[in-house]
Amino acid sequence: MRLVLLGPPGAGKGTQAKVLSNNLKIPHISTGDIFRETRDSGTELGDNLADYMKKGLLVPDEIVNQIVAQRLQKDDIKDSGFILDGYPRTRQQAAVLDESLEKDGIRLDTVIYMKTSNETILLRLTGRRVCKRCGRIFHVKNIPPKQEGICDFCGGELYQREDDTRETVLKRLEVYNDQTRELIDYYDQKHMLNTVSGDMEVRKLYDVLYELFGKEGLL
Ligand code: AMP
Repeated sequence: MRLVLLGPPGAGKGTQAKVLSNNLKIPHISTGDIFRETRDSGTELGDNLADYMKKGLLVPDEIVNQIVAQRLQKDDIKDSGFILDGYPRTRQQAAVLDESLEKDGIRLDTVIYMKTSNETILLRLTGRRVCKRCGRIFHVKNIPPKQEGICDFCGGELYQREDDTRETVLKRLEVYNDQTRELIDYYDQKHMLNTVSGDMEVRKLYDVLYELFGKEGLL
């Protein structure tokens, strides 16, 4: 399956992508995760990325497109498809993705738009905690770890992303509304868009998505 998860920061794209990827054995490509890894790599590119990310701004299209294009060439993607999480985020990125898939004679199967209220987004992101070691996502209220600050799965340390503060979340929402929202129309016009509610509880939304994929003959 070749899938794009679209929606504002905090819609739960990463959470759903991880579960779908695990259960359906489809590679999960999160540009945010790739950039966080590169940012922490101590390279010049990493320092460059840190500037954008700290401010909640988008990394320039050329850098993003190049990184995703490289990832899409790997064998696992050719065999099993992909779940794109956080990409594309601009019209230019969407056009580049379409072109590169077309070149390989393939296309996206569906785009899921996780429509989410601002209230949910703020509550989720400011309370989100991530495991430093395995990347699993917790929430101080909604998905608390058994032991505060420690990952239930691998014992790694949980941390708050520096762009999950209220101020940066508001900036990220502004950037989303300015640059990413228009992709909803872009995919809608191509009849690829399926809208679901990102306000739903994780397990319930997973069931909705699973049913939808079944109906579309993607499972
Ligand atoms: P995310 O984890 O998806 O919220 O991404 C974290 C940050 O990485 C974003 O705020 C951007 O600075 C950067 N980023 C991730 N994906 C993209 C993208 N497709 N285009 C531009 N910047 C991105």
